Amino acid sequence: MENQTDAIIIGGGVAGLSCARTLVDAGKTVHLYEADDAVGGRIRTDLVDGFRLDRGFQVLLTAYPEAKRLLDYSALRLRPFYPGALIRFQNKWHRVADPLRQPLSGIASLFTPIGSLGDKLRMGRLRVLGTQRYQFGPDQDTLSALRAEGFSHSMIERFLRPFLGGVFLENELETTARKFASVWRYFSAGDTAVPALGMGEIPRQLAASLPEPTLRLGTPVAALELGGIRLENGERPRARAVVVATDAAQAARLLETKGDPPQFNSVRCLYFSADSAPIPDPLLILNGDGAGPINNLSVMSAVSPDYAPEGKALISATLLDSGGRDQAALEQQTRTQLASWFGAQVNDWRLLRNYHIPNATPHQTRPPSEHPRVRPGVYRCGDHCGLASLDSALVSGRAAAESLLSDPI
Ligand SMILES: Cc1cc2nc3c(=O)[nH]c(=O)nc-3n(C[C@H](O)[C@H](O)[C@H](O)COP(=O)(O)OP(=O)(O)OC[C@H]3O[C@@H](n4cnc5c(N)ncnc54)[C@H](O)[C@@H]3O)c2cc1C
Repeated sequence: MENQTDAIIIGGGVAGLSCARTLVDAGKTVHLYEADDAVGGRIRTDLVDGFRLDRGFQVLLTAYPEAKRLLDYSALRLRPFYPGALIRFQNKWHRVADPLRQPLSGIASLFTPIGSLGDKLRMGRLRVLGTQRYQFGPDQDTLSALRAEGFSHSMIERFLRPFLGGVFLENELETTARKFASVWRYFSAGDTAVPALGMGEIPRQLAASLPEPTLRLGTPVAALELGGIRLENGERPRARAVVVATDAAQAARLLETKGDPPQFNSVRCLYFSADSAPIPDPLLILNGDGAGPINNLSVMSAVSPDYAPEGKALISATLLDSGGRDQAALEQQTRTQLASWFGAQVNDWRLLRNYHIPNATPHQTRPPSEHPRVRPGVYRCGDHCGLASLDSALVSGRAAAESLLSDPI
């Protein structure tokens, strides 16, 4: 009976799914309305000609505490990246062992054009002392924090800017240093991995743990109403509480939030199929030159062979801030850059998909301060409520559920 539903959740990304899971575990009846034809939101994997294409390159950091708590890692068959990176700089490859987890041996492997002895010591200091002062001290942007740490220009430009830019999805490094602190902590404490069958397996696993009638797919919500919601198809489901678990832009619309519209970082991900892998290792490849459209690249089939059909390789190239640029010209520039890295073999690579994701992550120059309770009976969650990541979205879903459960509704 619709009018006895305890909670309606709007949005089936990982935040909404985590919220649903907490409420269901507490014995509540939940209906989750998702506009799309499947759960996952920004974490989806498309099957294209036998290739598994994540909608934008993304990874799970195994040290994420909420992910560890909620997900069954062994069922996901996690495939780790090699701990380290390969940096393209001045027409050469420079291999970095792992500056975050083994700062001393890691930075020792950096060639002088990239990192100095001082950088080695700074990495070591950050590793030992941690990044708490950025978590709890006065807020600043990440670039200022890196400069205040004393990192050399070359260390910032060759490694830190493309690496953190690829994490934040903006390479000005204007993102709050609190996000840098949390990223640093989780990269240092565990593996960087993907599920064998793609990132989309994460929301699928969460959804599979919910009882059968919870999910309502393909049902966009038009508005919130007193005591329920109105769907775009005109139906008006009722519930004791509503949780808005959408991205920041949809949340602002549904909750009729005043103030400036939310800002986002945008990203583009180009997938190529090849007959052989240009690099055989499961590595993160970074553009240390700063020139050319590509920020980072990975051979996904080297990380997980299930990402490509037998005998084929899957390459993902990530481009930041490509918003208004002509798509054909951008593809050509990407191919030119790839050819300068890997030679004539690139001519035989086939473009599988070009994903442009304009609202990829919230642009967070300051730490967010949104409370999960909007007003009695109305709650919110989503990555915009914390320092945006898969894990913060999961945390925010639980926080909204706990806030709801603590209210006498
Ligand atoms: C390309 C890319 C790379 C990333 N890389 C990483 C990474 O490496 N590591 C990491 O931790 N994080 C990464 N992130 C961030 C991470 O994916 C997100 O923070 C997280 O998935 C957000 O989840 P969410 O549930 O808050 O929002 P969403 O996933 O956006 O879910 C919101 C859901 O609400 C639905 N919805 C919206 N409006 C309505 C409506 N009116 N009615 C019904 N449903 C509606 C949407 O369809 C969507 O399914 C990346 C993101 C992108 C896009």
